[in-house]
Amino acid sequence: MQHLGFRYTSLLAVVMTLFVTFVACGSQLYQVSLHGDSGPRPSVTQSTAPASGGALMASGPDGNADPRSPNFGLHAPGGWDSLPIHYRVDATMPAAQVAQIQLAMHTWEVATGRSLFAYDGMHQGITGDSFKDLYSSLDDSKNGLYLDNDWLKTGKPTVVLATTIWDNDASDVNKILTADIRYNDQYYIFGDALVIKPVDSREVVDLQTVATHELGHFLGLIHIDPSIDAHSIMVASLYIGQGLTTRALSSGDIKRIQRIYGCGGSACNVEATQALIEKMVHEAPPSPATASLETSNKSTVAK
Ligand SMILES: [Zn+2]
Repeated sequence: MQHLGFRYTSLLAVVMTLFVTFVACGSQLYQVSLHGDSGPRPSVTQSTAPASGGALMASGPDGNADPRSPNFGLHAPGGWDSLPIHYRVDATMPAAQVAQIQLAMHTWEVATGRSLFAYDGMHQGITGDSFKDLYSSLDDSKNGLYLDNDWLKTGKPTVVLATTIWDNDASDVNKILTADIRYNDQYYIFGDALVIKPVDSREVVDLQTVATHELGHFLGLIHIDPSIDAHSIMVASLYIGQGLTTRALSSGDIKRIQRIYGCGGSACNVEATQALIEKMVHEAPPSPATASLETSNKSTVAK
């Protein structure tokens, strides 16, 4: 037993050394909450709605908090009125960011075996800063993915990474008519966390990771309690920082999205699809860089 104990102690020492090295070479790694990052436009005060605070939650159909319900985890069991969903991106969004978002879209398409998205190009002349508040970006009926450099006007706390908003179809509240995703470009640096580095006080956020989560809302999913599905991309917290990504879906995520959109071809095999997505997201190139940034006093975590 003593021998075994020594081996475990040695193993622990190696793991701790690796962890400390990882933190020292990287930057700040910390957990951020995604609560309040999504919700429908309040219907009563549509055009004059003041930006809501962090309390906004998707309500959705009855039973969506009950794991035994077919509506579990869904705010829009009817999905979108029509597929594919046409979308535009912020006029200032770099091509590398568009590519990361499209990888996230591809993940959900692989999960369903369906063609879910259709790219209509840049939204000419329009950025997140073109809109006066959070919900007014829904008024143009274009589904947009925007960068906001004036995050405060969204009414969201500065720590919220991004937010997904939508209008339901007035004739069927289980369906989504239009939606936008707004990224907190003021306080975070979005990109491939395996490559990019923090700038000034803005911490690195893996765009593919957060886009996969926000697109889950965009497609009709709500947050999942980690006690039910710890590996769900829809858990309402995320570890961010340089070198940190969580881009895959759990098999629960795949089952829930298929409850909305069904499945096509080999995607109907949920376990094989989950394994395929896992493999796909890990095919990204390894991080080429080591950062020279100092670690901060923020609580450092490993996942
Ligand atoms: Zn969320």
